[in-house]
Amino acid sequence: MASFEMGVQLLKNMLIKKKSYSAFFADESDALHKAFPAKATVHAGPFGIPMLWNSARNFLEKKSFEPRKTEGIAYVHTPFCESRCLFCMFYQNPYSKEASNAYTNTLIKEFELWNGRAAQNSAPIKALYFGGGTPTALEASDIRKILGAARKNLPLAKDCEITFEGRVHGFSDEKLEACLEGGVNRLSIGVQTFNPEIRREMQRLDSPEFIIHRLEELGEHDNLAVVIDLLFGFPGQKGKVWTKDLRIAAELPIDGVDCYQLNVFEKSPLNTRIKSGLCEPAATLAEAADMYAESVEKFSSHPDWHRLTNTHWAKTPLERNLYNRLAKGPSDCLPFGCGAGGKLFGYSWMQERKLAKWSDMVDKGLKPVFVMMKPQEHWTLMRTLASSVESGPFNLCEIGGNFNVDIEKPLKPVMDQWIKAGLLEKSGDLYSPTVAGQFWYVTMAQLATEALTMIISKDDSFKADPITQSVYSPNQAEAWLKTINKREK
Ligand code: SF4
Repeated sequence: MASFEMGVQLLKNMLIKKKSYSAFFADESDALHKAFPAKATVHAGPFGIPMLWNSARNFLEKKSFEPRKTEGIAYVHTPFCESRCLFCMFYQNPYSKEASNAYTNTLIKEFELWNGRAAQNSAPIKALYFGGGTPTALEASDIRKILGAARKNLPLAKDCEITFEGRVHGFSDEKLEACLEGGVNRLSIGVQTFNPEIRREMQRLDSPEFIIHRLEELGEHDNLAVVIDLLFGFPGQKGKVWTKDLRIAAELPIDGVDCYQLNVFEKSPLNTRIKSGLCEPAATLAEAADMYAESVEKFSSHPDWHRLTNTHWAKTPLERNLYNRLAKGPSDCLPFGCGAGGKLFGYSWMQERKLAKWSDMVDKGLKPVFVMMKPQEHWTLMRTLASSVESGPFNLCEIGGNFNVDIEKPLKPVMDQWIKAGLLEKSGDLYSPTVAGQFWYVTMAQLATEALTMIISKDDSFKADPITQSVYSPNQAEAWLKTINKREK
């Protein structure tokens, strides 16, 4: 199978070459298995315009004194793992106790850097997420200090969802205690698969028995949502292995499950092993689609589970999935830590990924920006559209209505074709994805955003497309753009 990046490029080339509505159309012969030739992206959303380092830093320094306007969330990154899993592109540094201690001290300084500035303190933070890497690898004393500093320096809402991500390996009772004392009310545990052979092959630590036992123990805590990630598409996983993964997950005393597709990235150790024949190929897109459909069947037919998004299922009301929901939309996200990503007023940035550089910048009193993207003028609408299509059923009249523009009309040719292809169903104003549409959700979200971007662009070759002319004249597109720009100011 081609790598994930090759698939993304294939789809991009198609869009660039066609410059027509039909570039966004799906294959009508078999929506679940062949709607599109590849996945369009990892996370859907409008493109940004890169900013030079100095202008990014100056811009952010100025903006840090402006109050936030949207619901706020915060993300804290841990750039360490005890081992590297073969499929992962998030691995940054090996873990050590000393590294944990030093990282904690600098992270606390970064929390303090903007304390008192409006961008950090003006409005409540509704969800705080500790991701990585492996936050659960940190020493218990460091977990305590980091959570204490976050609570002291960030205006956390009373009902703030505080998620700690990681794995059960090395997550001792002492660390759990430190999390609970610090206000953590959600644990997101990366299980990926319960199959012992695949776990060994992917270099995941711990046996399925230990993981199941620990999840059962964690599930006993009141007021703590325990959520697991399952990945589908590993070499050797399709068929009975995946069926068993789903059965185990569905019966565990946990609060939520996220089932998402394995992407084989070009530079991942897994891709190297597959290419050199040391390991069998990962599932093809069509095979992955069948695995996804099986997960939908399993959880939607189970009396204890209900759906939150296209990939996310909840068993109890404890699971709110708030951070993930807000992060996809236009909300502000304050990032902290080496390699963290965040956004403010539509400007998104990645923080320095090299530990020494990140630490040096924080010590100098600088927000450690590595790269920043300026948003398109109409980014709020585009991000709202992308996150709505990504999450499940969506209402284009309502989304456009919130911005005083009609987005249903320019998107109609695409939506109609997706209905014909079997990706969507329409009832009233609501578009609901079929199981095939749910599998292709991220590609559809990206294509819908790009189709809308094209229609309002100054690209005359796209405007010359007969389908474009039938629904939207250049004058209408211009008026549309004026309204939306005024609204977003
Ligand atoms: S999957 Fe998780 S634990 Fe494994 S290398 Fe990636 S970030 Fe680390």
